[in-house]
Amino acid sequence: GDNRIQTTCPYCGVGCGVLADPAALQGVEGDSHHPANLGRLCVKGASLHETTGHAGKLLFPMVRGRRREWPQAIDAVAGAIRHSIADHGPESVAFYLSGQLLTEDYYIANKLAKGFIATPHVDTNSRLCMSSAVAAHKRAFGADVVPGCYEDLELADLLVLAGSNAAWAHPVLYQRMKASARDGRKVVVIDPRRTATSELADLHLALRPGTDTILFNGLLVWLAHHDLLDGQYIADHCQDFDQTLVTAKAAAPSTASVASECDLDVDDVEAFYRWFARTPRTVTGFSQGINQSVAGTDKGNSIINCHLATGRVGKPGASPFSLTGQPNAMGGREVGGLANTLAAHMDYHTPGARERVKRFWGSDAIADGPGLKAVDMFEAIHRGDIKVLWVMGTNPAVSLPDSGRVHEALARCPTVIVSDCTASTDTTAHADILLPAAGWGEKDGTVTNSERRISRQRSFMPLPGEAKPDWWIIREVAAKLGFGHAFNYQGPADIFREHAALSAFENDGSRIFNIGRLAELSDQQYQGMQPVQWPVHKSAGDSSRLYADGRFTTDNGRARFVPVSTVLPVQVPDADGPVVVNTGRIRDQWHTMTRTANTSRLLAHRQEPFVEMHPNDIQRYGVAPGHLAVLTRDDGRFVGKVRENSQQRPGEVFIPIHWNRQFASHGIATVLTQGVTDPVSGQPEAKHGRAAISPF
Ligand code: SF4
Repeated sequence: GDNRIQTTCPYCGVGCGVLADPAALQGVEGDSHHPANLGRLCVKGASLHETTGHAGKLLFPMVRGRRREWPQAIDAVAGAIRHSIADHGPESVAFYLSGQLLTEDYYIANKLAKGFIATPHVDTNSRLCMSSAVAAHKRAFGADVVPGCYEDLELADLLVLAGSNAAWAHPVLYQRMKASARDGRKVVVIDPRRTATSELADLHLALRPGTDTILFNGLLVWLAHHDLLDGQYIADHCQDFDQTLVTAKAAAPSTASVASECDLDVDDVEAFYRWFARTPRTVTGFSQGINQSVAGTDKGNSIINCHLATGRVGKPGASPFSLTGQPNAMGGREVGGLANTLAAHMDYHTPGARERVKRFWGSDAIADGPGLKAVDMFEAIHRGDIKVLWVMGTNPAVSLPDSGRVHEALARCPTVIVSDCTASTDTTAHADILLPAAGWGEKDGTVTNSERRISRQRSFMPLPGEAKPDWWIIREVAAKLGFGHAFNYQGPADIFREHAALSAFENDGSRIFNIGRLAELSDQQYQGMQPVQWPVHKSAGDSSRLYADGRFTTDNGRARFVPVSTVLPVQVPDADGPVVVNTGRIRDQWHTMTRTANTSRLLAHRQEPFVEMHPNDIQRYGVAPGHLAVLTRDDGRFVGKVRENSQQRPGEVFIPIHWNRQFASHGIATVLTQGVTDPVSGQPEAKHGRAAISPF
């Protein structure tokens, strides 16, 4: 018989189903029954079995440099939290979570922090990934909802990919887009760089970085000028259109001005606008090139505005579509893991939400209002306002902008607790208390991918050493703090049912996130649960597309157009840093390489940190292809091998985000980027740093 276990890949937001053989982990295969990938895997997913060994794993708890038993480690964590609350108040405690956590782990971490410790300072590395898309969805739709599904990317007759190198960042989804190519289907890629994804493009708009809102405002103006708007849809289902159009006209009065501001050929801009206008089945997929910007939320809304203006939301092959970076960024959003949210897609300001959640959790105290978002949280740690930081499953010392300052913050923090499956990371180096957490294949729970599909990650290997699942660790700490009555879970199924029940609790239908039917799953049903898209409740029909009827989640049911003015990047080149630095992913590595570097197969594609440069810049700065170049900003120094790329815009370089200090002590991209953020979403401007360049 087939003893293989159905589970889900732990890397990107595509959320591919994986079949793993527990007896002999010789290889993994794509699950042909999983709707996300239908059997496909990219090279990262196909290498999973090579990254699961014990090498480099954190195997037992450590407290201030000494190995400890679990009870002592739990005492140390609870003691630090209790003392900090007593001496400095609950807001002196902060949690920094991760889109790598399973939904169940995320849920109880959020519950412990916001509902029982009563600190609002819970944020997550998803802040770096899709918080601008979240904010844009909420402004337009009234809820953080991706209206479409993956099939729409195949059904679209025009596929617009904005700020997305899906070929490398969402490879299986890209394969699906590629496989669905047909006569007449057009693809427009909007990206300052020519990437692997551009190979699919009929038109590549290599715009000046940061000018996306001008391009999409220009589209709205062009559609209005040519009388190609869906006036009926706007009148019946939307609001605030007139003001939005006035603002768009001010920002992008003509196609010529758009072409000039975006540094594009006017004929190319016209071609894009014509194709968009004449193609009812248009999907605009957007990702980090849109989100990681000081205008990330506005960029998202400028895209959504064009889809609303043409009535293309939640219909087959017609939708805006945020491509989520992480495996469970969406699950984290569902439980309320962002600092500005409370729980189950409810915000602090959602009417009645605080009292409702308090009643449901049975908590005496609950955080009053939004907490600090990632960059501000680490500033508060640096200032000394936060005394206890608990980091779970992420490596902020590499991934946050201005990472030199993040190191200082971690070094100053009186108590840093880190739960991780990897022993030695740039962040664990600062840990006072290290807690060994279960990794992929060892832990059990659920994740939600970019199309709102909840899938099971299943354990099929024994826990290594003394490692424990995150939910167990959090439960034990909660019990030690005296909250055991509210954390009496026997396993992830109990937590999942509670999470699902909260989504339906006093929910009259005004909150779209409702998975109440899943609260009725037995342990056995939870174990066998098949991938399902939310909402999942008694009257929910087909959940693959939402808002197709034009009724949105706002108070009056109308979608909101959002006026978008031009806001350009803050980190602009100057005499000390004349070159624009764009940071991003490469094909075969995941985040800060703590897992994907464990197999040589994944290092073959790019072996060391690099700097991709236009030949003119190579000449100008006296560096040479194949030789090392140094990029500097203030105290930050990045060293990488020069790669010549004539498709790179002159004056702009690209560097990878992945290397950490274990693998390349001067290969950390984030030493070059400042902690400047989008004022609405708090997402850092990771796509637009600046640096000086010289030969090594
Ligand atoms: Fe994993 Fe993403 Fe590759 Fe799928 S596309 S196998 S989820 S890394």
